[in-house]
Amino acid sequence: MMEERITDIMKRIEAACERSGRDPSEVTLIAVSKTKPLHMIEEAYGLGIRHFGENKVQELVRKCNDLNDAYGHSIKWHQIGHLQRNKVKQVIDKAVLIHSVDSVRLGHMIEQEAAKKNIICDVLIQVNIAKEDTKDGVSADELIPLFMELIRLPHIRVRGLMTIAPYVTNPEKNREYFSKMRQLFIDIKTKNIDNGLTDIYFVPESFNILSMGMTGDYEVAVEEGATMVRIGTGIFGDRDYSDIR
Ligand SMILES: *Cc1c(COP(=O)(O)O)cnc(C)c1O
Repeated sequence: MMEERITDIMKRIEAACERSGRDPSEVTLIAVSKTKPLHMIEEAYGLGIRHFGENKVQELVRKCNDLNDAYGHSIKWHQIGHLQRNKVKQVIDKAVLIHSVDSVRLGHMIEQEAAKKNIICDVLIQVNIAKEDTKDGVSADELIPLFMELIRLPHIRVRGLMTIAPYVTNPEKNREYFSKMRQLFIDIKTKNIDNGLTDIYFVPESFNILSMGMTGDYEVAVEEGATMVRIGTGIFGDRDYSDIR
């Protein structure tokens, strides 16, 4: 069952790439395993999945520890949910990428903890592209100011942008948002950061991740340039929130 689902998703990603003249190797599938038990993660791993997304720090850390002996660093954990500053310390050396940086204060906390551990932390800036009250992330207007602050922090590497598009039944409705995200992404990538500024830790070549698209809309997201799609239900089935530890 999971095997068919993953095969179908891979095919659809390939087809979306073909339609938009992209190479499927540009797109990474992140299996969103929140609320799902370890055996399902192991099953997905057995089917070739290496990237897993969690939205709660406690759950990511617990699963990372539980699977560490068997799989170690071959499983790549992604922190995709909102990150509180007091949880940064726990997750920073477990997650390969934090998708959800949306404030200078959070950036400074990541900088501080990464410096202590002498690591460089890869992050994305989360953009609330549809300006939904219920969603985290900066507005398009706040993006550049936040970006300019984050690239001054030596232990943070800004790798790209992330968004959670509105919940829709017709994915075409999100196309304009994905397209806007790609435009913001390109604007930053090609931005000529004033050479007169010193202590800038921005590397345009490593600004290469656009994380957007979920079960309901990933094909449109890929057509519009997503390099990471985050798929939960489409791989693992519906989530049951009643028995979360
Ligand atoms: C849960 C979640 C997903 C996956 O959602 P599905 O609709 O189940 O594919 C993707 N991104 C984030 C940030 C999530 O919290």
